[in-house]
Amino acid sequence: MEAFELMKSIRWSDTNGEPVCPCCGSVKKPFFLKTRMQFRCRECFHTFSVTSGTVFAGHKLSLQTYLLAIALFTNAAKSISALQLSRDLDVQYKTAWVLTHKIRESLMEYNLQDKFEGTVEMDGVYVNGYIRPANNIDDRVDRRKVFKPNKRVIISVRQRATLSDEAIGAIKTKTFVLKSENATDIRTIAYNHIKAGTAIHADESNAYDDLHAHYTMRRVNHQIEYRGDNGENNNQSESYNARFRRMQYGQLHKVGNLYLSNYANEIAYREDTRRWSNGAIFRDILTKALHAPVSNEFCGYWQGNKRVSERLGA
Ligand SMILES: [Zn+2]
Repeated sequence: MEAFELMKSIRWSDTNGEPVCPCCGSVKKPFFLKTRMQFRCRECFHTFSVTSGTVFAGHKLSLQTYLLAIALFTNAAKSISALQLSRDLDVQYKTAWVLTHKIRESLMEYNLQDKFEGTVEMDGVYVNGYIRPANNIDDRVDRRKVFKPNKRVIISVRQRATLSDEAIGAIKTKTFVLKSENATDIRTIAYNHIKAGTAIHADESNAYDDLHAHYTMRRVNHQIEYRGDNGENNNQSESYNARFRRMQYGQLHKVGNLYLSNYANEIAYREDTRRWSNGAIFRDILTKALHAPVSNEFCGYWQGNKRVSERLGA
């Protein structure tokens, strides 16, 4: 019952927790079907629950289980694997897999609104480019020269906190999955998401050379130094990359390309909220899960409803 009240208050925060019909928008106090914990609209007679129209729609688990899943997800600084969650919640692996992905998906919409400004860092981290060396030394090839079809790069764009902000480090982050760190995509990302004139810190990769025309570029050559003579550095990007690696190697072990954009965004969210209290993060994720536009993507996943292609691009 406590879980029900909490979800009700967050789902319908605009009306002080009073249910709003998701079908016709009526705010007339609906009938409450107590045995089913459902509401029935007085105007259109639509029946709905506290999770109808949210990522948890048509739920089969108890509301407490969803809250516990979000709490465990919140506490996992380098993410949580479906295997771990299935043990902690005592549910099937498949159930836990879908649950973690529904939570990740509800985090996707965040940070879409404003363009980045002030001081920004951009950098890429490569994933899934590993080729196992052949057993026999004579069969081994120069792996630098082999085409790696699964190799991807995650470009993170992070806006630094300004001196007047309470926060330090970065305050917002967006991520993009590309097949390579190339000038065309980097330019598109920058033009679409960063205001002209912004100071951008980037490394020596020539993919960033075109940005000099519209931005104040601060380059740092990592081959020789981590911090340029004038304070050029990519510390926030490095922090992002490091957390992504900790998730990859420490928790998930394998991050498939199909859902790479979701994993990349999850780490962006975790980096941006790292100084918040656990209680604040829990409430924020629950709010997002109960307000995110309904995605049917993970409904019936194990019955064959799978994402068909990755989300790539700028
Ligand atoms: Zn209605």
